[in-house]
Formats: sequence, structure tokens, C-alpha cells
Amino acid sequence: MSDKHGIKKALTGKIRKNGRYVVASQAFISVKEREEALLCRTYGRYPLALERGKGARLWDIDGKAYVDLLAGIAVAGLGHCHEELCLVAREQAGRLWHVSNLFYQNNQLDLAERLLSTSHHARAFFCNSGAEANEAAIKLARRYMSRVKKRDAAEIITLGDCFHGRTLATLAATGRAEMSEGFAPLPEGFSQVEAGDIQALEKAVGPHTAAVLLEAVQGEGGVVPLDAGYLHGVEALCRERDILFICDEVQCGLCRTGKFWAFQHYDLKPDIISVAKSLANGLPMGAILATEEVSAGFGPGSHATTFGGGELTSAVAAKTVEILLRDKMAERAAALGRHVKLALEGLRARHPDAIREVRGLGLMLGIEIAANAREIWEDLLERGFICNLSHEKILRLLPPLVIEQDDLDAFVAALEQSLLNVSQKFR
Ligand SMILES: *Cc1c(COP(=O)(O)O)cnc(C)c1O
Repeated sequence: MSDKHGIKKALTGKIRKNGRYVVASQAFISVKEREEALLCRTYGRYPLALERGKGARLWDIDGKAYVDLLAGIAVAGLGHCHEELCLVAREQAGRLWHVSNLFYQNNQLDLAERLLSTSHHARAFFCNSGAEANEAAIKLARRYMSRVKKRDAAEIITLGDCFHGRTLATLAATGRAEMSEGFAPLPEGFSQVEAGDIQALEKAVGPHTAAVLLEAVQGEGGVVPLDAGYLHGVEALCRERDILFICDEVQCGLCRTGKFWAFQHYDLKPDIISVAKSLANGLPMGAILATEEVSAGFGPGSHATTFGGGELTSAVAAKTVEILLRDKMAERAAALGRHVKLALEGLRARHPDAIREVRGLGLMLGIEIAANAREIWEDLLERGFICNLSHEKILRLLPPLVIEQDDLDAFVAALEQSLLNVSQKFR
């Protein structure tokens, strides 16, 4: 039997997993079939349909519970369905959702005030995603150069293995061939140098350079904290050549690495930072924060968005930032991160053939497995632990910051079981 898209309906309750067929529930099979018939084929999904969440727990449509070590890709920093956020969302949903940026909006101002209290920046601009935040940062850098500095300097330099988004300009900034294949032409004015090589960057900066854009801890690149000396070198070079220094804090920001912002580990003073992911704990929202000087690049009408900083998302984001500060989530992430990293280092010492490296900061952690880790990742899923598999060999952990230490310990124990399960590979 096949439908109008020519998709064959599954006649059995089995799905392909890890190269073999395993029994799946009819409920799951039905979701999978509808997806295959209805959506553009952009995603390789995990074999899971989730229905409910609380804190760092998720339940799938068959009622099975999971420990969430991914938080919707670093989004639900305060965990799923945080009570205070639910309350604020419900109240605001009954009052006002959206009026547009044609009007003054108090929730947006509350959010800006709280967010700006966390850094040296003076002004905020709100949008809806990480890619849009980076677009805004790129536009501000270019316009600052042309309008304020009166310089013909539009070029943005990024680092190898970075990730800045999937819009055309942020794809150009990301510079990965496999992601931009078939989408040419991409916008001009982007170049890339290898991360960690300060001489390469010195050579790349020229009279037309506007800014260097980087993630202090590269996320999609496989959880790679950049070297402190290198970061200081980049900032010093930006000052010396009078170009802008932009930090993409979309994934590593908002307490995840154990400081409110990742750049604060290194005492950096980026001119602009981009923010998104956990800003509204699951509602779509992005932002840039800029210094007074650089924000002068934007004037009325120069940049805008319909949805950015709307009343509903801003109310939830303002509460999110309030709770992150009030509950000292940065300190919590730092302490839990230290604890789990130590446990993972112990695991590595017991399984030196299986684990190549444990790296990261706070609750942004990567466990590099010595071989393809798909089987381990799937085994963990079956044991009830959700994490991310990156580059086929890195287990990436981005748990809600509210996760309990017991859950992290249980994950480490489960990972050890998984390693033993497939250990023949590493011998
Ligand atoms: C996820 C991410 C982005 C893109 O964010 P979207 O909301 O998916 O557009 C940009 N930069 C970094 C560092 C990210 O992790």
C-alpha cells in the first residue's frame, strides 16, 4: 500500500535501527509514517516521539521515561515545564501576545534590563533565533564600519569548525561545504581561518575586515573550548587593528559553561554578543547585546523584525533570566560540570581504549569515543538517557542546568555499561 507521495505503509510494527529491525510500538510507527508523508526531508530524527517533560525528565508516547541530557539542544536550561515559567506564560497568554515593534513594550524592557545587568554591554536588540542574532551582529558590525567609522570594511572572519546558523549569510560565516552544498551563491564578505592559529588570523585581517566572529566554546564543532591564550590574542589583535570582536554565545551562553557568559571565563570584552537557544527556555527568541559605541551603527529603520521581543516571549525570557540569576545557575552548572567531568575522567581511566577525550566547560561537555559511537548512543537511548551524537564519535551533553547530580551519576554508570556492551570494538 502506498499513498500519494509513493511512500509504502509499514505493514509490521518494526523499524530499522542500528542496521537491524526492532519492534516499535504502533503509536511510534504511526508518528514516523505521518512524518515521512508530510514533512520536507530535512531531518534525520532520533527514533523517539516525546510527549511530556518535567525538569530533566522526558516521557515518550509509549510512557517510557528518559533522563534528558540534551535539553532541546541547550534550550531548556531551566528544565521542561518550569513551574514559574509556566505561570508567567499562562498569565501573559491571557493578557497580550503580540503587538509588534511599532509600540513600546514593557516586557521587552524588563528583559533588556536583566540581560544587560549580566555583561558590560549597553544595548540589546531582540529577534527570534540564533541565526537571526548572528545576522543582526553581522549587519551591525558592517553598518558600524560604514556609518560610524566611515570605512569600507565589510568582511567577517570566522574560525574553522564553527557554527553560526543556517540562513544564507550565517551559512557563509559557518563555511562548511557539506551544509552549503546546492545553495550557492552565498553572500560575499566572509573568510575563515583555522581556530587556534593566531598568525593565520593576523594575516587574514586586512583593510576591509569588519570583525572576527567566534564561539569561545565551539558547540556544533564537537564541544571544543578555545585556548585562553588564543582568545586573548584574538581580542588584542581586534583592538590593535581597530576591528570588532564578536562572540557567538548562542549555545555556550546563559550560564551553561559555569559563568553567565562563556567569554567571562577569559575576561574578554566582546563588542557584540549573539544570544538565543535557552533565552526563553524553549520559546523562540534571540538577541544581540552591544556596547554603546558599536550600537550607534544602527539607527531607526536600519534593522527590524516583526516578532522579535514580543510580549509573550519577552515575559518568559525576562523570568528565565531572573531565575538564572536568582538561583545562581552559573555556579550550579560549574559545580555539576566539575563533578561529572571528574566522573567521566574516571571512566576514561578505566576504559582508555574506548574514550579518547573528555572536554568542555560547566554543563557543556563532549565525550570523544575512540570509534564510531552510534551503537553506544543508541544503547544509551534504550537505557533511558538522551544525549547528542556529534560527528559520529562525540557524545555531546547539554543537560538542563537544573538536572540533579544523581541523574548525571546514573548517566556515567549507564555509559560504562554501554561501553562494556560494545567493548569488543575497542580491543
Ligand atoms: C544553534 C546555534 C546557532 C543557530 O541558532 P538557530 O536558532 O538554530 O538559528 C548559531 N550559533 C551557535 C553557536 C549555535 O549553537
